[in-house]
Amino acid sequence: MKAAIFHGPHQPLTIENIDIAKPIGREVLVRTVASGVCHSDLHFIEGLYPFAAPAILGHEAAGIVESVGPHVTEFTPGDHVIACLSVFCGHCEWCLTGRTHLCQSRPVRATTEPPKLTWKGQPVNQFANLSSYAEQMLVHDSGLVKVRDDMPLDRGALIGCGVTTGVCAVFNTAQVTPGASVAVSGLGGVGQSVIQGASIAGAADIIAIDPVSDRREASLRVGATHAIDPMAVPW
Ligand SMILES: [Zn+2]
Ligand SMILES: [Zn+2]
Repeated sequence: MKAAIFHGPHQPLTIENIDIAKPIGREVLVRTVASGVCHSDLHFIEGLYPFAAPAILGHEAAGIVESVGPHVTEFTPGDHVIACLSVFCGHCEWCLTGRTHLCQSRPVRATTEPPKLTWKGQPVNQFANLSSYAEQMLVHDSGLVKVRDDMPLDRGALIGCGVTTGVCAVFNTAQVTPGASVAVSGLGGVGQSVIQGASIAGAADIIAIDPVSDRREASLRVGATHAIDPMAVPW
């Protein structure tokens, strides 16, 4: 399959032919239909966070199941899925108390098993257990969620990172309640998702703040009640 290879910070990604292993255990092979380009990927390219090269970045994706490992019961080929970067084991102390995001034994291939991704015979590191800047992804089944076939996958992909980040900031972190006032500073993908989450939560005033007029207009379409240009306000 073709994939965009990360060679290290401050170097351009290159498109290469990569070998991807067959699914074993609870792994699922997914044909990537859409992948977002999240700013977190850019952090690694800019060297702000370390990640060992060669690797395939990308972690906001959706696709269609091509084949499944022998222990997969939840998915069959043809299923439409959204990929999630928080793969979890499902049986550690954290998972069993509903905190799968803190899982301490995330399922990865053992060093005695063949690598998932190879380039010219050498292992390629999988990013966030996904590596979605590629035509195919080999993912543990806990990192996939099945969606309806009529869900557009280019929008479904965004649920894998930006939408979840924004909506869960509303419901889990800020715990917005009906009638609350919410101000959202920055109206990129996450900010627009915060606005939609605040709207779902029943916030009365949702104030969208961004210097870019297109973003402010978009925020008013998805639930903001007021939009403010911070450059035009005397603070
Ligand atoms: Zn992301
Ligand atoms: Zn766990």
